[in-house]
Amino acid sequence: MTSTAEPTLESLRTRLSGAVLTAGEPGYDVARSVWNGEIDRHPAVVVRPAGPADVATALTYAREAALDVSVRGGGHNYGGAAVVDGGLVLDLSSLDAISVDPAGRTARCGGGATWAQLDAATQEHALAVPGGTISHTGVGGLTLGGGFGWLTGKHGLSCDNLLSAEVVTAGGDVLRASAEEHPDLFWALCGGGGNFGVVTEFEFRLHPVGPLVHLGLFFWGLEDGVAALTQAREVLATLPGEMGALVAGLNAPPAPFVPERHHFRPGYALLVAGFSGEAQHAEAVRAARSGPAPLFEFVSPIPYVELQRMLDDAAPWGILGYEKAAYADGFTDEVIEVIADFLPRKTSPMSIMPIFSMRGAFTEVDDDATAFGGPRRESILINIDSLATEPEPFAADRAWVREFWEALVPFSSNSAGYVNFMAEYEADRVRTSYGPAKYERLARIKADYDPRNVFHHNANIPPAR
Ligand SMILES: Cc1cc2nc3c(=O)[nH]c(=O)nc-3n(C[C@H](O)[C@H](O)[C@H](O)COP(=O)(O)OP(=O)(O)OC[C@H]3O[C@@H](n4cnc5c(N)ncnc54)[C@H](O)[C@@H]3O)c2cc1C
Repeated sequence: MTSTAEPTLESLRTRLSGAVLTAGEPGYDVARSVWNGEIDRHPAVVVRPAGPADVATALTYAREAALDVSVRGGGHNYGGAAVVDGGLVLDLSSLDAISVDPAGRTARCGGGATWAQLDAATQEHALAVPGGTISHTGVGGLTLGGGFGWLTGKHGLSCDNLLSAEVVTAGGDVLRASAEEHPDLFWALCGGGGNFGVVTEFEFRLHPVGPLVHLGLFFWGLEDGVAALTQAREVLATLPGEMGALVAGLNAPPAPFVPERHHFRPGYALLVAGFSGEAQHAEAVRAARSGPAPLFEFVSPIPYVELQRMLDDAAPWGILGYEKAAYADGFTDEVIEVIADFLPRKTSPMSIMPIFSMRGAFTEVDDDATAFGGPRRESILINIDSLATEPEPFAADRAWVREFWEALVPFSSNSAGYVNFMAEYEADRVRTSYGPAKYERLARIKADYDPRNVFHHNANIPPAR
């Protein structure tokens, strides 16, 4: 039933158990802030729901008041999809409860939990869900777009480990989606992003991990670019599929394991993470050492939660950020040449180029089993990020990202990359990322669950007509 009375904020407040924040109220500025310091939006109202009923109420209010809606999980989307000027933000940070069933090896977490929170709770039982590589990222956006990190080779994407989700649809229905219930919606949630509803709770399958795992980090200077990347290619070719691997172009951090003379030095790092004992990891370390001598290395057992937050300082909250990414079938000579040519041209010491190795269990999942857009074969995902604290180097490196990406396009297998690595959604990039068949299937499901495209502040898939 449609109300004819003008909806007021007071009426919203009385209908909700959770908080309502507007400009000038304590908490409003925190609630509208996101990871990317470049984003400064002023929503008309922020709702922090206490549960799915509040989400449904807020959606009704937004419809009656003709307000645009955005959904905020961990606030990490580069383009600031979580906040909308003049609209209603559903800030799910209030939904961060986590429960772990160690015997059944499952965990449930609220739609606004971060990986730091989920990892801490699951690691109490030496269990884990494959997550991302930065612990302050939200479980919500990362999982809905796919989600990969150190454990992807061993246990697949985050969404490959999703068992069910509690979803509030655009129409205010509260559903449980799983392989058995609303299987079309469940399929779409596994990679199709935030298009289909508000997930108030995720249920994941857990795996035994750690608490101690093995890390090997090797760092070469810019002068060794081609040799270092060729060495990374050799190592990845022999590395067991279940091991985690990351290649990064970055400046060495001022960390205790970095000799002082190399602090902030630009170069290339190869990181390998082992989860199956010392012998397997020692073999990978031997392979990494078999090429050009690195400037320094760090080989050590490390608590899994430390591995998960090891890169947090490389992408701190509030930094100015811009990114573009592309898939390639591996470190071909051409790809190596482009990277070695472009990496030295970045101006901000914070700017970074993480290259994710898509491997092992990730490749064993059928391409059509989930909505995830990337190819389910061994490949690399090259992510180029302008990160800076000041506008000038940020703008210079944003141009660098664009130019670098353009140079990679001819050698990439999917130049649109991953929906979660898009600072902006230029024409057709989302469609290209999924490919036409998956995109059209997603658009049909969107038409069933969100025909008016209420959830469009995301890597949007408009409903099929
Ligand atoms: C520093 C950094 C490191 C990253 N590292 C990785 C990585 O290692 N691996 C990886 O796969 N990705 C990584 N990402 C990308 C990350 O997956 C996306 O930015 C993702 O959108 C973050 O989710 P969030 O909930 O924090 O974001 P938000 O900005 O809060 O949300 C982004 C979008 O997701 C949707 N959304 C979020 N939560 C929900 C929910 N509960 N229900 C419905 N919709 C929701 C909304 O549409 C929202 O617009 C990284 C991003 C950053 C900034």
